[in-house]
Amino acid sequence: MGTVTIQHGKEKPIQNQHPWIYSGAISKLTDDCQPGDIVTVVDSKGRFLGRGYYNPTSQIRVRMLTWQDETINEEWWYDQLSRAVHSRMVYQDEFDAGVNNAVRLVNAENDFLPGLVVDRYGEWLVLQSLTLGMDHHKEVLSNLLAEMLKPRGIYERSDVDIRRKEGLKDQTGLLWGEEPPSMIEIEENTLIFSVDVRNGHKTGFYLDQRENRGWLHDLLYLDGDDLHEDKRRVLNMFSYTGGFGLYALAAGVKQVVNVDSSQAVLKVAKDSIKRNELPLENAQFVTGDAFQVLRDYVTQGEQFDVVVLDPPKFAQSTKDVEGATRGYKDLNLQSFKLIRSGGYLMTFSCSGAISQDLFQKVVFGALADSGRQAQIIRHLSGSEDHPVALTFPEGAYLKGLLCRVW
Ligand code: SAH
Repeated sequence: MGTVTIQHGKEKPIQNQHPWIYSGAISKLTDDCQPGDIVTVVDSKGRFLGRGYYNPTSQIRVRMLTWQDETINEEWWYDQLSRAVHSRMVYQDEFDAGVNNAVRLVNAENDFLPGLVVDRYGEWLVLQSLTLGMDHHKEVLSNLLAEMLKPRGIYERSDVDIRRKEGLKDQTGLLWGEEPPSMIEIEENTLIFSVDVRNGHKTGFYLDQRENRGWLHDLLYLDGDDLHEDKRRVLNMFSYTGGFGLYALAAGVKQVVNVDSSQAVLKVAKDSIKRNELPLENAQFVTGDAFQVLRDYVTQGEQFDVVVLDPPKFAQSTKDVEGATRGYKDLNLQSFKLIRSGGYLMTFSCSGAISQDLFQKVVFGALADSGRQAQIIRHLSGSEDHPVALTFPEGAYLKGLLCRVW
């Protein structure tokens, strides 16, 4: 096994169990450090720090797997996977009760399995490998997952931009078992959604927003009386396949306007509303650019009781932060203008490069320009099955605010 030596003074984050070692922290490598291999990491005096996998193409040269002097073999992978899967056991009860059957089982670095995402959609699993090190182990991992969970099939969706930084091409297709159908029906809090694991975003669905969709439902269902009873209107910006919109209809709102730039995803949203026997006459679908649609609504004097803003990732890395904050500010500013007094804004950012603190400042900036008043009712984050390792603040990519607006 190859050995990677860390420069004197750069060992602290590794000792504190941050999982990434950048090229600049490494002083030397032995010749047997091969791309994708497991390596031993030592400090400048040769003392053991841990083990991880190595990729000379990536700026993140090593992703740490363990800080103990242990062998990374099949048994190790099994134990590590098993720990992640078993920590989702609360969902198993819901699975058995037919309430929730889609869950993230492995959340990469945050489950101490860097570069690996595994999502469960009913009887199917979707595996996403983000790194060369994980690519090397994906067959072993699929076999272990099959043994552990007995799915009908495991489909691979390793087609994310971040793979470019690892020097990798996209890889998709069947890894184990049967081919999944073109649409998998899942249940989320008793609502049925259709998931296209081949072409859908991420592994097919935004599982990370499950609990926030629940909060929207509760807000509309329980606190709905505070809103304008007979004309409650929800604007669901960046609807994707209808997530927040379906919850709003299920809570009994009079109208939901779903906006997305993709007509195809709105078609799925429409089908899901029918499938759940929710009132289609209460839903509208608008294909368009969110920035323009919001401006047009402001010009037209439209008003909503709740606006949900769930844009895609605007900042891919720290160099995009400035442009991204301008985008978030504009969306939030226009949205504030559209909310009736006493209504709500549910606003998100899923950019890892933008902290919760910065996001709140951006929303504050938008509020100041809008001339409105607002209160934070709740800080929002990813669902419970998307844990964030305390050693890895980068894992907290999804953040949001629920604000009451006056
Ligand atoms: N809220 C959704 C997930 C939203 S994902 C859920 O709970 O499932 C972001 C969505 O924004 C995608 O569907 C994408 O098609 C859409 N999108 C991206 N850029 C857009 C733009 N400029 N205007 C409108 N929609 C956009």
